[in-house]
Amino acid sequence: MKFVTLSHCSGNHTHHVGILEGDQVACLTEAGHATSMLEVVGGDASALAKVRAGLAMAPRRALADVKLDAPIRPGKVLCSGINYKGHALENPNAKLPTEPFFFAKLPSSIGGPDTPVEKTDRTQQMDYEVEFAAVSTLQDGSTSGWRFSLPRLISFLSRFMPLEPADIVTTGTPAGVGAFQNPQIFMKAGDAVEIEADGIGLLRTAIVAG
Ligand SMILES: [Zn+2]
Repeated sequence: MKFVTLSHCSGNHTHHVGILEGDQVACLTEAGHATSMLEVVGGDASALAKVRAGLAMAPRRALADVKLDAPIRPGKVLCSGINYKGHALENPNAKLPTEPFFFAKLPSSIGGPDTPVEKTDRTQQMDYEVEFAAVSTLQDGSTSGWRFSLPRLISFLSRFMPLEPADIVTTGTPAGVGAFQNPQIFMKAGDAVEIEADGIGLLRTAIVAG
């Protein structure tokens, strides 16, 4: 099942939980089976069973008639640094780490699909870095090129802090970031970043003048 967070009816219904089915979205919130994505990801197996049981009767809305929001408002956003060997190789100052390391981003930095990013004149080197992120647990995707697997990253973090529902763990960016191109490539208004993951879909982020 592909979970989405959506708003519809001209914004009168906001942050509902839905299941994407082709060009339709089944709204679980209207069917009374989930009030928020946090409830779904923070719930146990019975919460998922409730979703599956209620899916058939949930009202369908055309994907074109709804606005997809960011999937979840995260608690912590923990980003794995230098987790792709290719990215380590393209950065002359980077060493492939022997243990995972992380930096954090603010929860408010999250945007939804098609949410533009503003580039102000104060930002001189806006780079693009696409990453695969996990919200709670996920099976190991064994993505080729990863230095540390997702279970290893989560295990490492859990030694230092509690991981809670809606926390996000990102898995590092692959080779090809703009700063290490020759010449360097930085984002400007009118550009767009697209990330596509097998089985998940395509996310497009436009850069606009801020
Ligand atoms: Zn709804």
